[in-house]
Amino acid sequence: MGAPLNIQGRKYGPVGRCIYCGSDGGADGLGDEHIIPFALGGRAILQDASCRACEAETSYLDGYLARNSYYDLRVHNNIQSRRPKERPKKLPTIISIEGEDRRFEADIADHPHFVHLPVWGPPGLMQRLSPSPHFSESRHVSFHAIEPIKIQRITGEKEGIVEVKSEVKINEATFARAIAKIAYCNVVAHFGFGSFWPVLLTDVILGKNPNVAFLVGSQFEKIRPSASAQHRVEYGIYRDKNFALVYSTVWLFASSGTRDQGMPIYEVILGIPRDDLIPYLEGGAPRPDYPDQSK
Ligand SMILES: [Zn+2]
Repeated sequence: MGAPLNIQGRKYGPVGRCIYCGSDGGADGLGDEHIIPFALGGRAILQDASCRACEAETSYLDGYLARNSYYDLRVHNNIQSRRPKERPKKLPTIISIEGEDRRFEADIADHPHFVHLPVWGPPGLMQRLSPSPHFSESRHVSFHAIEPIKIQRITGEKEGIVEVKSEVKINEATFARAIAKIAYCNVVAHFGFGSFWPVLLTDVILGKNPNVAFLVGSQFEKIRPSASAQHRVEYGIYRDKNFALVYSTVWLFASSGTRDQGMPIYEVILGIPRDDLIPYLEGGAPRPDYPDQSK
């Protein structure tokens, strides 16, 4: 794995084909894809890269991460939004006081925030498992920031047993497909459409093949937060006795977490590389014709 590149604001492509279904977009043409979802702060673009039908699927996936798992982190980190005027000033929170659940609207600065994320084993393929929609290990981890003084400000209560509640709602398949989409867009941007054969991957991203756990997994134990990048996507080769596959890690909100435990790093198997791509992936270096059209 090479050092991450700062790709913010760069434009890649144009691809000229839908990277998911291969169509030329027909009369509607092709749209740009965000390499990291816009609502997670991404400003790098893969131009002319998705048809209308596929874009509907992938923008749903991007939105899923932004609206669900990472919502509190987005708001607390003041990340860009397509509707900045609708940025909330207050957020709801459920606090149980002496056993009774009460709902409060808290100022953002006081709001206790939570991140619930799925944690899995490595992708099934790397464990020599058969293709499956079921993750071999499935757990949830939760990070939260709760300060008693802020909770007192929200509730106005000085005494009594107070518990802050947060519901865990994760659609693991949707979450994993959204991660796979991020890895795929990054690798296509850096190495070009056609530089590898995404066996199964595009169908998994589009939800046409359910076996997402075969290609997506995670690492979690003892990962320290990154001091630098907000999000880090890296790529390399996964080698088995008989084959070499394009492999990528997706580390969202890499700089968040506690001092001892950072966010999970998700792993994605992308497909079979063209022979000339392997040395670059092994070296972690960008290709000489690094397709940077940023202006
Ligand atoms: Zn398409």
